[in-house]
Amino acid sequence: MSEKIDPVCGMSVDLRGARYKTVYKGKVYYFCSKRCLEAFERSPEFYLERGPQGMPE
Ligand SMILES: [Zn+2]
Repeated sequence: MSEKIDPVCGMSVDLRGARYKTVYKGKVYYFCSKRCLEAFERSPEFYLERGPQGMPE
């Protein structure tokens, strides 16, 4: 498996070129952009509970 779903916007992220990732509670999450990464770091529980919400403003 070389793709993961961006938990913020729902896009699939190719892990081979993944530049944006973070570890939360021992799990690694990948993002398509810095914007998604920052949105997740601001409120990880929101995205983990509700699922992808689309591109952050
Ligand atoms: Zn994204």
